[in-house]
Amino acid sequence: MSSMIDKCLQAIRPEIRQLSAYHVADAKGMVKLDAMENPYLLDKDLRAELQGLLASADLNRYPDPSAGVLRQHLREVMRVPQGSEIVLGNGSDELIQMLAMAVAQEDACLLSFEPGFVMYQMIARFCDIEYAGVPLTESFEIDMGQTRRAIEKHQPAVIFIAYPNNPSANCFNDRQIEEIIAMAPGMVVVDEAYHPFAQKSFMHRLKDHDNLLVMRTVSKLGLAGLRLGLLCGHPKLINEIDKVRLPYNINVLTQTAAGFMLEHIAVLDEQAAHIREQRGLMMDALRSMQVLEVFPSDANFILFRVLGIDANEVFERIRQQGVLIKNMKATEGLLNNCLRVTVGTPEENQAFLSALRNAVKSLSPHGAGGDEK
Ligand code: PMP
Repeated sequence: MSSMIDKCLQAIRPEIRQLSAYHVADAKGMVKLDAMENPYLLDKDLRAELQGLLASADLNRYPDPSAGVLRQHLREVMRVPQGSEIVLGNGSDELIQMLAMAVAQEDACLLSFEPGFVMYQMIARFCDIEYAGVPLTESFEIDMGQTRRAIEKHQPAVIFIAYPNNPSANCFNDRQIEEIIAMAPGMVVVDEAYHPFAQKSFMHRLKDHDNLLVMRTVSKLGLAGLRLGLLCGHPKLINEIDKVRLPYNINVLTQTAAGFMLEHIAVLDEQAAHIREQRGLMMDALRSMQVLEVFPSDANFILFRVLGIDANEVFERIRQQGVLIKNMKATEGLLNNCLRVTVGTPEENQAFLSALRNAVKSLSPHGAGGDEK
């Protein structure tokens, strides 16, 4: 006789039971370069001012359900064109989920590129929607032939294009994206999570394409803890997507803190500029190492392949030295033997580079793998 818990488990969809929960590595006490966060805190004065604002927020009341003031503020700062509407999410993850819920009907399909941001596929599964992942080329560009065929075959309700892409860090070719928007039978979401580092955008093209949606987040700007994303596009589409949004999804503290930070956007912009500068230095340092193949980056992280040594071992030795990066854990395919590192402060980047050099040296057959090119 099956126990009650077995009966309850039977009620959970098989494809959910087969999933493993999204794993977040324990980073306690580590130099944390695994999650594309901004490493900089606010200065003492700004923190004190923000603290005062948060302390006076009315926590007994529900938040403004549509976060109207915040949306207007975001419209100005993110230069959302007139004529486009905005819906906010508890992180852009939630916006992906809202889009998926809104289109989830029989035969609906979400399409994106592989390797790509894992949540597109995961959320498709949560919502019981088909997911089509079109492989990128070896240099992580869009393969237009395959894309065209996949669009014709699957007729996707939504196509997600991460711009720049995660984990490869590059922006795809603009003309190819335009072509995809033109041929798509449904919505195309250009996911600009890493916009502060790419400084390229499809936002101004919203007025040219009714089926284009542009998604942004404040996470990579230095506000990952707030959980705030925005989706911009045609008012008729945003209006429908807004219907599946839970009424109070942007909490009082987030609305207050985000509003305050948008008034001080120059501080965050300056931090992003530092990170872009550090990215250049980190890129040069990685490229000078013989045992690495380093891919170009328009984001605040860098993907690289370790040549001739097992990347799992390199990752582990770096971890043992107190630095956490991301192991792509691939033993074949486009991410074969690849690792991904987030650009941090100059000190953090030095700690990473030195841990990497040590790791490579100790694992190379002649102890020389970390040598400069
Ligand atoms: N899009 C891409 C491409 C990402 O890499 C991420 C986070 N890593 C997100 C969206 C989600 O961002 P958030 O939910 O923090 O807004």
